[in-house]
Amino acid sequence: MASVSVSSHLNKGLRQHYLSLPQGDECQVTYIWIDGTGEGLRNKTRTLEREPQTIDDIPEWNFDGSSTYQAEGSNSDMYLIPVRMFRDPFTLDPNKLVLCEVLKYNRLPTETNLRSGCNKVMEQVKEHCLWFGMEQEYTLLGVDGHPFGWPTNGFPGPQGPYYCGVGADNAYGRDIVECHYKACLYSGVKICGTNAEVMPSQWEFQVGTCEGIEMGDHLWVARFILHRVCEDFGVVATLDPKPMKGNWNGAGCHTNVSTKEMRDAGGLQYIEKAIEKLGKRHAEHIRVYDPRGGQDNQRRLTGFHETSSINDFSAGVANRGASIRIPRQVGQEQRGYFEDRRPSANCDPYAVTGAIARTCLLEEGEEEEEQSK
Ligand code: ADP
Ligand code: MN
Ligand code: MN
Ligand code: MN
Repeated sequence: MASVSVSSHLNKGLRQHYLSLPQGDECQVTYIWIDGTGEGLRNKTRTLEREPQTIDDIPEWNFDGSSTYQAEGSNSDMYLIPVRMFRDPFTLDPNKLVLCEVLKYNRLPTETNLRSGCNKVMEQVKEHCLWFGMEQEYTLLGVDGHPFGWPTNGFPGPQGPYYCGVGADNAYGRDIVECHYKACLYSGVKICGTNAEVMPSQWEFQVGTCEGIEMGDHLWVARFILHRVCEDFGVVATLDPKPMKGNWNGAGCHTNVSTKEMRDAGGLQYIEKAIEKLGKRHAEHIRVYDPRGGQDNQRRLTGFHETSSINDFSAGVANRGASIRIPRQVGQEQRGYFEDRRPSANCDPYAVTGAIARTCLLEEGEEEEEQSK
């Protein structure tokens, strides 16, 4: 069996005593940000004298960028700018989780702060009421890096019974999934579903629908909550897009998209127009759909295991081997949304949603204007 962490063996009953102590009017606020890897999350907590009612009640803060792969030379102080507030499902009301943007000493966004640029595009396309829903796949590992619940020497039975499976022989680690789901609901993250995936100990949750910049904000906090829940149980969630080589499915972050024109009667023609534009910029999208410019997806988008080839663009109704899938019901009703199946599980949702908005909704002229800002 995969090994669990030492911290998960600490006395949780004892912990409960301290966590239930009254805390007066004071409020613990945990600031969360994306570090210099573009994948890692960091957090630290401070006390506010009273409960913040809105994001505007939460002050800016700072941290040491030289310890998060973010510092530039001797200017290691980075600014934390609160952008979205959630309830804290770990220490409970009135405490908060707050997602932050990171700015450098000169108050410009850091290299891995892709929210800033994404937000500008979302402002430009606001009138289209752009909705997203993202399907986050992930794999549970022991602290030894081996998939959770897999035999130490050898493999579980081949794929087949695990997707949406039930029973101790099919579902590995459901406790994590259920606790993460409840914690997201409590916090205010727009989680809309979950299921067991094709590879054992691989799972998925869905977040949506979210409008514009909200998508990245909610998905990043959903990821934070996942890592934090896993920490409590002593295991690790990896977003690696192909954790196991061989005949095992990889992990993606399918991104579902619609505008108000697509959702209205006869909207399929707008979906087709968007797909045509996406087809012309396949390579450009592949470059931003994982944090290593397409290298991570190279291991996953093989054309097998319900993926398309990384080199080809394709689209089709109900086709799970295509880059873009139009769900069957959308084909039938001639309106709705489409699914971009290319983003990697470890993608930055700001990069993905920003690229989709730009390609599908901005004209060439508008784009130049956006980039020169
Ligand atoms: P799949 O069949 O691809 O596994 P899921 O049920 O896992 O689909 O996920 C569907 C996703 O589509 C959800 O994240 C949901 O929020 C999103 N979604 C549903 N309707 C829309 C819409 N009109 N626009 C954008 N996203 C949508
Ligand atoms: Mn799904
Ligand atoms: Mn899936
Ligand atoms: Mn999907």
